[in-house]
Amino acid sequence: LVEMTATLIPDLRRVARTAHQAAIYISNGHGAWEAALQNTLQPGDRVLVPSSGRFAIGWSEMSQGLGVETEVLDFGTSAPWDMARIADALAADTAHRIKAVLGVHVDTSSSIRNNIAGLRHLLDETGHPALLMADCIASLGCERFEMDAWGVDVMVSASQKGLMVPPGLGFVFFNDKAAVARKALPRISRYWDWAPRANPQEFYQYFGGTAPTHHLYGLRAALDMIHAEGVENTWARHAHLARTIWAACEAWGADGPLRMNVPERSLRSHAVTALRIGSPLGTELRMWLEQSLGLTLGIGLGMAPSSSPEWHGFFRLGHMGHVNGHMVMGLLGGIETGLRALNIPHGPGALEAAAAAMAGH
Ligand SMILES: *Cc1c(COP(=O)(O)O)cnc(C)c1O
Repeated sequence: LVEMTATLIPDLRRVARTAHQAAIYISNGHGAWEAALQNTLQPGDRVLVPSSGRFAIGWSEMSQGLGVETEVLDFGTSAPWDMARIADALAADTAHRIKAVLGVHVDTSSSIRNNIAGLRHLLDETGHPALLMADCIASLGCERFEMDAWGVDVMVSASQKGLMVPPGLGFVFFNDKAAVARKALPRISRYWDWAPRANPQEFYQYFGGTAPTHHLYGLRAALDMIHAEGVENTWARHAHLARTIWAACEAWGADGPLRMNVPERSLRSHAVTALRIGSPLGTELRMWLEQSLGLTLGIGLGMAPSSSPEWHGFFRLGHMGHVNGHMVMGLLGGIETGLRALNIPHGPGALEAAAAAMAGH
């Protein structure tokens, strides 16, 4: 276990495309959010949070819980960041009170993929010293993400999405600039401190206590799978499968109520797809597929209050991690069947379009 754990760090770095440091927490993604904030900010600091969905709001709420002032730029649930408005907010902060910009790469609720490298460009252009932090919980191991080349200072992820391990491990990657911010803090929680985790003198310091043994062996297997395929090939597989899913969804949407949440292809995630179909059809379709075909679709997240009738008008398709062609064709065939069984109007030719996309035509 001791020797194996040491091998995880360089292989995690290769997935994150960074030469910098990594700390592991026994936590879910919320714990990784907390860790990133605890190591860089103190009460009274300010963060800027451009939002394209529920997860950006969630991270901003975590920072509020630590007494950090939070400036959210809310771009709604189906649009990407408006870079001009972010640039204005940075330019207006002449006193440099903003200590970090928190950017969610893929917002899993809306399935928007945001432009993290573009954020770095804005910070450099305005000469703003804030740290650039990225949430890659949904995207790591699914989509191109280049921590060092894109100038990201802190990146957070978790085990249960593209990394294919059960929930329970959180990851924080950080560069030298972020390490300097951590050193400048007047005090830091012993438990959340990333320094001993990233540079342990004793084995227990990796985890601030007992190691999460089974998760670590699972992670070893997952990293072996990713590196055997090749990180770039893993990204390409997800892109190919996503295009297949979009081909079907676009065809269904040519007639009837089904719509993709993100109209523009270049802004769509390769890891998750959010759809709108109107209430109550979203819940009816999910229920029918679950009960009749054993196919479980994701609920809509952050699109409408869970107490409102509109909540039933959304669903999502997860296609992250260990996913291949026959799973995707099964998913699409299932949805086609559900639309027919429930007499939901839809455009023709979705499965033919998917087969053509899968075949590379
Ligand atoms: C899943 C997810 C989270 C939250 O992770 P938990 O493990 O549920 O705490 C945060 N951000 C993004 C983008 C996610 O996809």
